Amino acid sequence: MNRILIVEDEGTIARLIEVSLKRAGYACTVAHDGVAAADLIEAQDFDLALLDIMLPGLDGYELLEYLQPMGTPVIFITAKGSTRDRVRGLSLGADDYLVKPFEVEELLARVGAVLRRAGRGGQTLTAFGVTLDVVARQVTQNGSPVDLTPREFALLEQLMRNRGAALYRDVLYERVWGAELTDTRTLDLHIQRLRKKLGWQEQIETVYRVGYRLRREDDTPPARGK
Ligand code: CA
Repeated sequence: MNRILIVEDEGTIARLIEVSLKRAGYACTVAHDGVAAADLIEAQDFDLALLDIMLPGLDGYELLEYLQPMGTPVIFITAKGSTRDRVRGLSLGADDYLVKPFEVEELLARVGAVLRRAGRGGQTLTAFGVTLDVVARQVTQNGSPVDLTPREFALLEQLMRNRGAALYRDVLYERVWGAELTDTRTLDLHIQRLRKKLGWQEQIETVYRVGYRLRREDDTPPARGK
């Protein structure tokens, strides 16, 4: 089930969006101001964010900056329909733009299209010939099943959901083990096992002083040192 963050300070509109998306089978989290939204973005990961632009606290443009390093797609939802605002949102990297008032059908069509483009449609994540089925909790590589422990599975899911982003060790640990990081060795060992099982020595990069990053398909290969 795709997880969607809705950030909208007008209660009736927030509720309309939430109800429509839930009915269509999405899991929704609602924030009514920019600061609450930023806290949620730090604590959880989302497949898509719907952002109002004019918000108390931080505005939609600032929230977009929070979301971009995580590779989370963004649709702006706003009353500002002028061409200038539209161009600004898109040039900053938003994936789409929806002007209030809008029809529910249009909202659903755009959400579906952006998720598909981002490779997050449905219940599977794919990267380098590996498919991870979030619901069936199965992983296959070029069609053959890969045997992973529950921790390895959760770790791989985090890397695939945040593909291209450098994930901090403590963030990864907290999301997979549900506890604060005290010893990085456990995490590093699990990464090593995952690399070995998938043959992903280069696909899972070690990011100096940060943690780990799953490469994107179109990344140029890392320069090889001696
Ligand atoms: Ca607003």
